[in-house]
Amino acid sequence: MIKQNSPRVPKGVGLISGGLDSTLAAKVMKDLGVDVHGVFFAMPWGCCDKAFATAAAHSIGIKFITLQLDERYLEIVRKPRFGRGTAMNPCIDCRIHMFTRAAQYMRHIGADFVFTGEVIGQRPMSQRREAMRLIEEHTGLQGKLLRPLSAQFLDPTDVEREGLVDRDRLLSLNGRSRKEQLDMAEKFNLQGYSSPAGGCLLTDENFSRRIKDTFRYGYRNFRETISLKWGRHYRLNKDFKCIAGRDKEENDGLLHFAHPDDIIMQLPDNLGPTLILKGPSPDDTILALCAGIVQRFSKYKDHPPVEACYWSARNRNDIHTIQAVKPSEEELDRYKV
Ligand code: SF4
Repeated sequence: MIKQNSPRVPKGVGLISGGLDSTLAAKVMKDLGVDVHGVFFAMPWGCCDKAFATAAAHSIGIKFITLQLDERYLEIVRKPRFGRGTAMNPCIDCRIHMFTRAAQYMRHIGADFVFTGEVIGQRPMSQRREAMRLIEEHTGLQGKLLRPLSAQFLDPTDVEREGLVDRDRLLSLNGRSRKEQLDMAEKFNLQGYSSPAGGCLLTDENFSRRIKDTFRYGYRNFRETISLKWGRHYRLNKDFKCIAGRDKEENDGLLHFAHPDDIIMQLPDNLGPTLILKGPSPDDTILALCAGIVQRFSKYKDHPPVEACYWSARNRNDIHTIQAVKPSEEELDRYKV
């Protein structure tokens, strides 16, 4: 609720991930009379769920835009200033980057503040009190970053001090338990938010290995890194890496995001994985090994070596064939990223 005699409707930019906390924060702000503009950050490899975020924004009745994370974000993952969590997740730098962009958007639309669904003590790295302060300092959002769910434990922000947002109506949640949030979701009849188990791929050990491999051996552009989330990855040597899809969705994704210099390989009847080979001018040994990997994950696994078709992503009409050389399981394990 806006305090009586409040001069105008406050405008706030809210980070909406589609999860329960950010949905609740937006709901609290909206019910306090704030003109809420939701922002969803689209990660290159998924993470938060845009469909949930869109549904949450729609159900609360707030404005909503999506901002894409790009090369700048990849650089942060490669070289974070404030360290990492349990895997490759650079949570503090990640938040600084997102909040800085939210701050730009705040200025762009003439909003008063940015708010998030952060809860003190909920996440070990980025939601400690000192980390939250650090993030505020490095985003230029001092006094303008409101965490409605834990606001009672934090210093008042400018909009609270000015009476634009009623501090007494803000919450005092803390810690890892989500019981209060779930109770509130029930009370507000909030549905459709994503479960906290969804998770960020940068916290995943397997995915982190792939990102490290990419940083070590290089990538040509940001778009190319999107395929890190799909398939089985094999580093054949320092020059060559291949990715084999595990189902139709992954095969389609790999095809769609192939770099023009990549080689695409499939079995003639396409009853197996689509494989993308990355690296300069592969010779027949590499191509035959890739064909062996395609065969290994096809229904012809136990057949004598088959022929696979391949072509350059740049020229899909110039199709060649190569006889598979099947790798042993030990060899495959060695190549696995
Ligand atoms: S878990 Fe992932 S998305 Fe969330 S702050 Fe950390 S790096 Fe960023």
